[in-house]
Amino acid sequence: MPSFNPVTPEIVTQLQTMVGAANTSTAQADLDLHAKDQSQHAAHPAEVVVWPTNAQQVADVLKLANDCRIPVTPWGVGTGLEGNSIPVYGGILMSFERMNQIVEVHADDFQVTVQPGIGHKDLNAQLARYGLFFPPDPGANATVGGMLANNAAGIRTVKYGASKDNVLQMQVALADGRLIKVGARSVKQASGYDLLHLFVGSEGTLGIITEATLKLVPVAQYMSAALAAFDSIEAAVQTVVAVRGSGLDPAALELIDAAHARMLREAEGVDLTDYPTLFMEGAGHLRGNGRDQLPRHHRHRRTQKTVARAPQFV
Ligand SMILES: Cc1cc2nc3c(=O)[nH]c(=O)nc-3n(C[C@H](O)[C@H](O)[C@H](O)COP(=O)(O)OP(=O)(O)OC[C@H]3O[C@@H](n4cnc5c(N)ncnc54)[C@H](O)[C@@H]3O)c2cc1C
Repeated sequence: MPSFNPVTPEIVTQLQTMVGAANTSTAQADLDLHAKDQSQHAAHPAEVVVWPTNAQQVADVLKLANDCRIPVTPWGVGTGLEGNSIPVYGGILMSFERMNQIVEVHADDFQVTVQPGIGHKDLNAQLARYGLFFPPDPGANATVGGMLANNAAGIRTVKYGASKDNVLQMQVALADGRLIKVGARSVKQASGYDLLHLFVGSEGTLGIITEATLKLVPVAQYMSAALAAFDSIEAAVQTVVAVRGSGLDPAALELIDAAHARMLREAEGVDLTDYPTLFMEGAGHLRGNGRDQLPRHHRHRRTQKTVARAPQFV
């Protein structure tokens, strides 16, 4: 186990000078609030929580922690399912709750630059006025920083890819207090090491993301959703292969097995039968386009009958 130094009252005072007394807390309630994510892993509290409000503060705290050999754990909003935001060695918990702004919308470039603490759902609500959105959707209102650090994916990955496919540039604070830029706003990036994607998915272990420029796509004008139940997982998988092989381009696909369909019905009252169930979403920009991205037999309605063969396609 690595050996670290404790957070002393002197360190807390230095942190207060760096990020402000109102953005530093050793209160038990704040430590408890940041001691556990959504995983089954045991809680472990940090010794102090800080809420930086700009990139330089992040870099300054990292430099202090590095010089004093104190561990730092970044925290988005704690929706991770792997326990990687739990401060298992104590030390400093760095929350990005107060770095949650859009820095600039580059609407003509289909890009947006954001601070790491903005929730992707909040971001998309603000981008709606431009008719654009950031596609990765892990379900929870995860922060952009947490999504990039985890390379979060979700139901739309089938069409738009994971977080790593939707980021162009990041500012990152390194442990020694340097702030660096990785990647570029240019879509064509062919030269040099791909440092951007070294940091994406590194769970905060290589550096802390202080800003990110994300790719955006236009909000589809037409959307439809469908749900189909199958006799077996194999039949559902064959249907997915057939749907994709036919040239249809679903915007979202999610398969749950019979046990999870039952759990959803019993716990949440969702109208499902005890069969493997496929959820699909179609999206497009021409009338009928959204619908035509889905198998005809299942669009616009919930089917509770089992489908043992691949359905006909539009
Ligand atoms: C109901 C539910 C459904 C989910 N579905 C999916 C899914 O379909 N696909 C999927 O991929 N995930 C899914 N997740 C998991 C979770 O939403 C993602 O892992 C998400 O990326 C976590 O984001 P967060 O802001 O909560 O980050 P946190 O959980 O707070 O942190 C995650 C990691 O990122 C690090 N981190 C946070 N901010 C930064 C930063 N600025 N710089 C560097 N590192 C940082 C943390 O230290 C930690 O290692 C789901 C979670 C829930 C609760």
